[in-house]
Amino acid sequence: MCRALIIGAGGVGTVVTQKVAANPVFTDVMLASRTKSKCDAVAAAIGGNRVKTAQVDADSVEELVALFSEFKPDIVINVALPYQDLTIMDACLECGCNYLDTANYEPKDEAHFEYSWQWAYQDRFKEKGLTAILGCGFDPGVTAIFTAYAAKHHFDEIHYLDIVDCNAGNHGMAFATNFNPEINIREVTQKGRYYENGKWVTTEPHEIHAPLNYPEIGERESYVIYHEELESLVKNYPSIKRARFWMTFGQEYLTHLRVIQNIGMARIDPIIYNGVEIVPIQFLKAVLPDPKSLGSNYHGQTSIGCRIQGVKDGKERTYYIYNNCDHEVAFKETGTQAVSFTTGVPAALGASMWAKGLWRGAGVFNVEEFDPDPFLAELGEQGLPWVEMFDVDLEVDKIK
Ligand code: NDP
Repeated sequence: MCRALIIGAGGVGTVVTQKVAANPVFTDVMLASRTKSKCDAVAAAIGGNRVKTAQVDADSVEELVALFSEFKPDIVINVALPYQDLTIMDACLECGCNYLDTANYEPKDEAHFEYSWQWAYQDRFKEKGLTAILGCGFDPGVTAIFTAYAAKHHFDEIHYLDIVDCNAGNHGMAFATNFNPEINIREVTQKGRYYENGKWVTTEPHEIHAPLNYPEIGERESYVIYHEELESLVKNYPSIKRARFWMTFGQEYLTHLRVIQNIGMARIDPIIYNGVEIVPIQFLKAVLPDPKSLGSNYHGQTSIGCRIQGVKDGKERTYYIYNNCDHEVAFKETGTQAVSFTTGVPAALGASMWAKGLWRGAGVFNVEEFDPDPFLAELGEQGLPWVEMFDVDLEVDKIK
């Protein structure tokens, strides 16, 4: 018996709720979010009174504690926004619930994300005998599990890790983000950062770029940006000499981003407009397309994976492990596009790993600290098949 509470009824929450509801390991399921009508719509589409719904402001520990005390979840799946990670973790500690999320904590007033805030909960989760699973979407999430799988089965030492994230889909809009616009724009406009020889190297935004080839897609310009799983992976795999994260952007997208920044619409500090305090990026989110609405006209694929170089039995080897996900296939199954799908499927699967007792432990864990095998054994069946290639040209090794 496992009672699961999902928080956040956005694109990702829609997929998580469908996958959790379809899995008999979860006996009781609830979806709670700021706007209850959105939870009701997701629950109605699933039908059969399988999913209960509730309204909650996840910024309030008090409201969360009241909800958790009533529903008594064994595990809370946080797919609201990174701003709510700590309040939800606090409420989990107070009510004796286990925790899983897909994005690390970010303070609202600083576009800065790192694990230190959540790693600081280690002793408290340990003392209570509770599990907190951090970063169980696709990236972070499956990318770290791919790395753990490579380390377990194919390498004695990983030396170079390049995570490559390509969205070759086309939604037909002039500009839209694939997940929450506020979080997305904060992420992609910050300075680049990668790890090399024990140090973090900072670059200007999008300074390092190169054309990379993606399976079934072809060549796409790819840019080094900072991404949160790099922080935990270089800690958990100390043999890594260099770790980078690459993401593809189209020229049109980058032009829009530059304009948004230049005219001040990416600002995260409050301004006064007509006597009312507004935060420009939050206003921008309100006028941009809802990522959840992009699916119906989205064509093409995403391709996300890890390109790894290292040593096995004294020999150098290269390895590429990836998943391609088709926007139209994701939409047909869940009514959402591939970015929500590739995030929601691993979150629901990670929660089921906990529910089945396969991923357990007292404390705070990044996903690569668990056994990757049972998770990857099921990932394909859940809609995200993965492919391995050995001793191939990784391309990234030529770009220093
Ligand atoms: P959306 O903006 O579509 O959904 C977020 C949901 O959270 C909305 O329903 C929103 O409510 C709700 N919410 C926001 N604030 C609160 C609050 N204070 N209390 C209760 N509910 C709240 O985002 P996505 O679904 O696109 O993304 C969800 C999460 O997934 C984000 O944290 C994102 O960073 C993460 N993500 C992770 C990825 C990965 O691979 N690891 C990739 C993509 C996303 P309302 O509807 O009222 O606004």
